Amino acid sequence: MKLSHIISLAESYPFKPFPLIREAGDLRENHDYDPSWDYEIDDNPDPEYVKLVNETVGEIKSRILPEFGDIKTITTSYILDNDDDTLARYINGTKSDAHFVIDVPNLKEAIKQYPVDPKTAVESTLVHELAHAIQDILEADMDEDEAEDFAFGYTYGKIDPFWEKYI
Ligand SMILES: [Zn+2]
Repeated sequence: MKLSHIISLAESYPFKPFPLIREAGDLRENHDYDPSWDYEIDDNPDPEYVKLVNETVGEIKSRILPEFGDIKTITTSYILDNDDDTLARYINGTKSDAHFVIDVPNLKEAIKQYPVDPKTAVESTLVHELAHAIQDILEADMDEDEAEDFAFGYTYGKIDPFWEKYI
């Protein structure tokens, strides 16, 4: 990576690029989770964001899951949380069939407030949530700093195998 690229990123990014707040979901059985139990469903999410989410999940499958073998499937659902703070959540307990719910209107609102492009926002959000799935599988704490650092590293093309310290 070129130095000029790093500098421009550093200038456009606060250290914590994207706030993820109030995301602790309920403990759920893994294979039959239905987001409508907990959330209003977004029946018509912005197709641009659906495309970004699907691309990012594909990248996670090809780049991260080979490094951490205990996640078999990733499912994404779109919700309207009616809560300004929630961008996405990992549903606690879904573990190896990891389920993420995503609030596209809240993501769009956050992008207006932070100097970040939609692709990076979706990527850092989903990778952050993936870290929580990995923490859940390892029965580790849902450490926000660990998840944020993992997502931040991924944005720079680095996959930090933080799980190795638990194994
Ligand atoms: Zn988190």
